[in-house]
Amino acid sequence: MVSVFNFAVGKELLIGRTMNSNAHWIGGRLYKMGGMLDRVLTVTDSLDAISGGLVELLSHDPDFIVVVGGLGPTPDDMTLKGVALGLGRRLKPSKEAMRLMREHVEGTGRVFELTPARRKMAMLPEGSVPLKNGVGTAPGVRLTAGKGTVVFCLPGVPREMRDIFLRFAEDEIRGKLGVVHISKATLKLTGVFESAFASSVGDALKMHPEAYIKSHPKGIRGGVPSLELDLTVTSPAKEVAVSTYSELLAFLTRRIADLGGRVVSKRESSR
Ligand code: ATP
Ligand code: MG
Repeated sequence: MVSVFNFAVGKELLIGRTMNSNAHWIGGRLYKMGGMLDRVLTVTDSLDAISGGLVELLSHDPDFIVVVGGLGPTPDDMTLKGVALGLGRRLKPSKEAMRLMREHVEGTGRVFELTPARRKMAMLPEGSVPLKNGVGTAPGVRLTAGKGTVVFCLPGVPREMRDIFLRFAEDEIRGKLGVVHISKATLKLTGVFESAFASSVGDALKMHPEAYIKSHPKGIRGGVPSLELDLTVTSPAKEVAVSTYSELLAFLTRRIADLGGRVVSKRESSR
């Protein structure tokens, strides 16, 4: 199993100012690829919190850590310094990072000046490769650490984070995942209480512990409950994914009927 952690940096995420939509988006991308975000750690903008958090995450030897936030010019942006501290590496000026920033600024029709803010954004931990940011100034960073963990550092601004993730991180993670076939469905159910259905989910998971089955209660109207049910089966072999999925779907559909419920709609996909 390929393990991917998200390390979110920013006080605004901890004080109810900003929702961690980047973790939500990364988790969704990975799940669509047949992988999964295993862990999210959020810390405030302090060197201790950033370096300590990185060391803690690295101690689990994940395949990837996606660090998000704090790459910009403001004083609270200290992620690369914290990462360098955690790894026991120095920050070094990167000509390539500077070139990427120049390319971006001149591309927007402005004159590129070597400001202290830009000098700061071009200081990368030793061993880093700067990554082109297609929509903003601060380049991303790729480095390896620990026992071969690939660390990506991406800006916090969601569209910049997504641009660099899609350009660089996604392909590398997909390559590590290899071929994954996914068969899945979301069912809308009516007339079944989640508590009554729980043991059926348990029975299905006993048959195939590798499947993902999750019910979402959607309220009770006029005494009639509504539920949404997600079923996902992934496998390197397409025929395994498809047959396990079909077996579970038939089993769950039978149980829904036995409980007096009804499937109102079914959205299926397989690839
Ligand atoms: P910049 O160069 O714009 O300063 P940065 O890498 O320094 O980028 P931050 O300063 O940490 O990023 O955040 C920039 C903006 O992105 C802020 O408005 C912040 O609230 C938002 N942001 C940061 N992290 C996240 C996140 N995980 N999810 C959603 N928004 C985020
Ligand atoms: Mg910033």
